[in-house]
Amino acid sequence: ETMTSTKSPSQVPVGVDPTRPSIARIYGGFLGGKDVYEVDRQVMRKINDAVPEAVHIARGNRAFLNRACRFLSRESRIDQFLDCGSGLPTAENTHQIVQRFNPEARVVYVDNDPVVLAHGRALLTENENVLMVSADIFNAPEVMENMVVGNHLDLTEPVVLLQVGTMHHVEGDAVAVMRRYIDALAPGSYVVFSHFFDPEEPELTRIARRIENVLVNGPMGAGRFRTRAEIMEMLEGLELVPSNDLGDSGLVACDEWWPDGPALTPLSGAARCIVGAVGRKP
Ligand code: SAM
Repeated sequence: ETMTSTKSPSQVPVGVDPTRPSIARIYGGFLGGKDVYEVDRQVMRKINDAVPEAVHIARGNRAFLNRACRFLSRESRIDQFLDCGSGLPTAENTHQIVQRFNPEARVVYVDNDPVVLAHGRALLTENENVLMVSADIFNAPEVMENMVVGNHLDLTEPVVLLQVGTMHHVEGDAVAVMRRYIDALAPGSYVVFSHFFDPEEPELTRIARRIENVLVNGPMGAGRFRTRAEIMEMLEGLELVPSNDLGDSGLVACDEWWPDGPALTPLSGAARCIVGAVGRKP
């Protein structure tokens, strides 16, 4: 049984082909990383030409991931984390955030980009609680039934599953992919999730479409901005935790999910084109 009707481009690992841009390197480049090749820079320039504030999407996404990990490590007390499509190591990675609170926390990173795998493994040689696994994150059984994952994490107990900035790279049935993951989680598990967003307001939808055109029609071949209804379908079976102190539950712009403090400047249009949520499987 295939997971998706169409194989998403990133399910074919980018390998060491220097002519193929890499999602991980481009995203890392927007976050200020140095592992960016000329093919990646060309895509970055096209994105910047289309939407000069596009960098806000990457920054908002990464800051959300960090806050959600900090929150869950402290509040849920869960000590096992499965970070799917973890990306290139950056200033604050999942294991650094959660091990600050609990040095015994176990983390498995999953990715299929060889540059990510090499850097991840180099970074982690001295941390026996953290592993890097190569697998296709859009094939949930390949991850959830992976022997190395299963030996390191007890998937019969609650875990924190991260699918942050990943599912918009699925061209086919992303709802089916997420359903497989959520079904496989033990009750009491949490999911940290973010996705490119089409706010369905003309001005903002234009911004989303401009970036989507570069990603989908360019050499990357992937990157869908989906609507609230489409994204909520991917989170079915989860109870979303409140996204602010008014008790509003759910899916909000990443920058608006429990920010570190008041916003001193209004969010840019681009920053409104990525949403995040944290959900609990009852
Ligand atoms: N989760 C990180 C974050 O939010 O900061 C990184 C997000 S980055 C935009 C997407 C990551 O997913 C990249 O590192 C890419 O290599 C990985 N990825 C994309 N498709 C994948 C696949 N089919 N299997 C495994 N990893 C994949």
